[in-house]
Amino acid sequence: MPRADRENLLKQRGVTLWLTGLSASGKSTIACLVERHLLDLGKLAYRLDGDNIRLGLNSNLTFSAIDRAENIRRIGEVAKLFTDSGMIVIASFISPYRRDRDAVRSGMKAGDFVEVYIKVSLDAAEKRDPKGLYKKARAGQIKGFTGIDDPYELPLTPELLIDTEQTSPPEAAEHIISYLRLGGYLGEGI
Ligand code: ADP
Repeated sequence: MPRADRENLLKQRGVTLWLTGLSASGKSTIACLVERHLLDLGKLAYRLDGDNIRLGLNSNLTFSAIDRAENIRRIGEVAKLFTDSGMIVIASFISPYRRDRDAVRSGMKAGDFVEVYIKVSLDAAEKRDPKGLYKKARAGQIKGFTGIDDPYELPLTPELLIDTEQTSPPEAAEHIISYLRLGGYLGEGI
């Protein structure tokens, strides 16, 4: 059945919001707020994150460069299907390699993939360290940790850039919702 039929039913356009950034940049915090806001507006949204993907579909993958690429490739395929279903997908993954993110983008239609760079300095991320992961990485207990001994390649032309050292989580969510609203993803009158 045509995608437009589902989108008309849902009164929204399918899209994948791809939140990328360092660990502790605020991806999950912001993703949760965006999802809540969209549901409150009567829009169907669903979050993909490490908790529901790394533990299931990708439980056989490690954090090596090859497995990180495969992790993102599979997530991209899932996001593409959800987007085709008419869903507003909020994918929040560090996704540190530009090539992997760009591969997801190029597999989707123009306008279906919205890259949102959740920016934070390494210094600020380490100070937040809500899960103590940076501390462990610095102590050598976690190897290949993004920002410490594995690179983070920042997006060069993201659709949205949110500097979390200047923007509060509710403001960040509001920016993202505005982008969707102005882009016509939320249907008329919203
Ligand atoms: P990630 O999913 O990117 O690893 P989390 O959302 O799990 O990041 O953690 C980010 C932490 O930083 C949370 O404890 C959050 O409350 C805190 N934080 C402080 N300021 C901000 C901000 N402006 N935006 C997002 N998170 C922030």
